[in-house]
Amino acid sequence: MSEGGHIRLLPPDVANKIAAGEVVERPASVLKEILENAVDAGATQIDVEAVAGGTRLVSVADNGLGMNRDDALLSIERHATSKIHTADDIEHIHTLGFRGEALAAISSVSRFRLRSRRHDELAGTELVVSGGKLLDVKDAGCPPGTLLEIRDLFFNMPARRKFLRSPQTETVHIRQMFLLQALAWPAVGMSLTLDGRRSWALAAGSAPAERIRELFGQELAEGLRSLEPGQGDVKVSGFVSLPALTRGDRTEQYVFVNGRPASAPVIGYAINEAYHSLIPDGRHPTIVLYLEMAPDLVDVNVHPTKKEVRFRRSSDVRDAVIGAIRQALSRAGAAFVAGQGAKPPVPSMPPAVTPFLKIDDLPASRVFSYPRLPPAESRGAMASPSLPVVPSADAKPAVAGAVPSPAPKAPWTWCRVIGQIGGLYVLLETEEGYVVMDPHAAHERVLFEKIMNAVEQGKVESQGLLVPETVELPPRDALHVRKNLELMKKLGIGVSEFGGDTFVVDALPKGMQGLGVKAMLIDVACHLETLGERGSHSRWREEAIAQAACKAAVKARDRLSLGEVEQLVIALASAEMPYTCPHGRPTLIYTSFHELARKFGRE
Ligand code: ADP
Ligand code: MG
Repeated sequence: MSEGGHIRLLPPDVANKIAAGEVVERPASVLKEILENAVDAGATQIDVEAVAGGTRLVSVADNGLGMNRDDALLSIERHATSKIHTADDIEHIHTLGFRGEALAAISSVSRFRLRSRRHDELAGTELVVSGGKLLDVKDAGCPPGTLLEIRDLFFNMPARRKFLRSPQTETVHIRQMFLLQALAWPAVGMSLTLDGRRSWALAAGSAPAERIRELFGQELAEGLRSLEPGQGDVKVSGFVSLPALTRGDRTEQYVFVNGRPASAPVIGYAINEAYHSLIPDGRHPTIVLYLEMAPDLVDVNVHPTKKEVRFRRSSDVRDAVIGAIRQALSRAGAAFVAGQGAKPPVPSMPPAVTPFLKIDDLPASRVFSYPRLPPAESRGAMASPSLPVVPSADAKPAVAGAVPSPAPKAPWTWCRVIGQIGGLYVLLETEEGYVVMDPHAAHERVLFEKIMNAVEQGKVESQGLLVPETVELPPRDALHVRKNLELMKKLGIGVSEFGGDTFVVDALPKGMQGLGVKAMLIDVACHLETLGERGSHSRWREEAIAQAACKAAVKARDRLSLGEVEQLVIALASAEMPYTCPHGRPTLIYTSFHELARKFGRE
């Protein structure tokens, strides 16, 4: 009773372990902290090595400032930093680090070795720390700069260690982090060695364009346009993709604020605005964006890992980003921008490069019909001629759920093609009304069912490419493709590993020749990634792959002949689920003559 309160100060090693939970999530976060320290120390060359995705070893050697013995000993103490001295300094941060937490946290949850030598000193220092305990301090002969070796991360926190993923997955995170930092600092020479194999060796002194080419390859670099470095308080530079080069997620958007990889909702919003009406909904451009502004205009102290930043004047940031991107796109002839600059874009401009289907030489009214479909009962459908087509009043995908019934019936028994409207839609007259068909969506549906039927019957026909194509993918995409190689083969996509993140595609499902192979693989990866959250049933994954392949197949063709349109109409009429594309968008919008009569007040 008389022993006083229950509250105690935590011993420092416990406090460090708790902090480690915030700063260090996985080997890639260790790499991030150490790379940032090296850059802060003015390094011009940084060499990184990781073993087993960094779970066994992360090592980083830099040729920066280095530390003397006192500094080295202090560097692993909590809240020890050379980068700020007073609370005021937090408002004007010029360095990447400032919290003085990283080395203390990392050394408390790993076997840690630091070797460092200042340029003006003869001998270096070596520290050995294990699980937060300093085991050894001694002189060491070493080159100027700093070498850190972090082994067995979380060896003393079994619960955390269990949360690490397979070495393969952790390797992907390491590569992704390296890539991000390499983009942030194009002038710094950097190398990455994974499990003893050199993965990247990036030249020092590069301009951003050269670094991007080294990291992403010539092909992608050619699809990018540079931003004119602007004036004003917020300087925007970097590269953006033309509207033709998009992907289904945002993973290839890299944003740096004062050299720090960062995200902020306003930047995502500005990118969307800049591309508004130039690319289809749900597609995202590839972007490398560097923002520079006075340190007091940005707050990086929102989050321990400093991932998200806050801007003091976010509307300036938004306007600068939109303006710079729009200007670059219009210079490239990709956008017909009326109101350039800070004003919101004009939404009515025609989509310039969006790959829609165009139908050649479709006469104003071409009549054709074809035999009735097989008797209704053989398709398990009702015989009623009234059409259960998507009602025109509600053309949104929301109706998709209501449409595909397990026993669908043909949408019409005869029809004639009236023509093409809006440069895209095909207008059909049927016995009971008229139908507007999106040939793009319809084509996807038809191809999709063709592949899935073939899969079900175990006879997918695959056709060899004349010239096999070699494709290098971003690390995350590569992982998804690699994990599903067997399934893809089953679906007729002849893809095999070529080392690293490179794949060779030598065959495609029959009828899909001439595809943008790389775009297709990336779409497949995106689909699989989204699926990953919902489940990994192989049937769903098959569908995801088939969907992506169809989408790519349709995108790769930009013209359909009249004959092909007719084929399409016929094929769609006999599809299992003719009313939506595999992604759930409507393929047909039907208006009955009844409805017309009602609207004209005839009924
Ligand atoms: P912070 O970077 O927030 O200051 P860290 O724990 O990451 O905190 O590092 C603590 C200190 O150790 C740094 O302020 C810096 O003085 C020193 N330090 C860390 N890494 C290096 C390095 N590679 N080269 C020189 N000094 C370093
Ligand atoms: Mg740091």
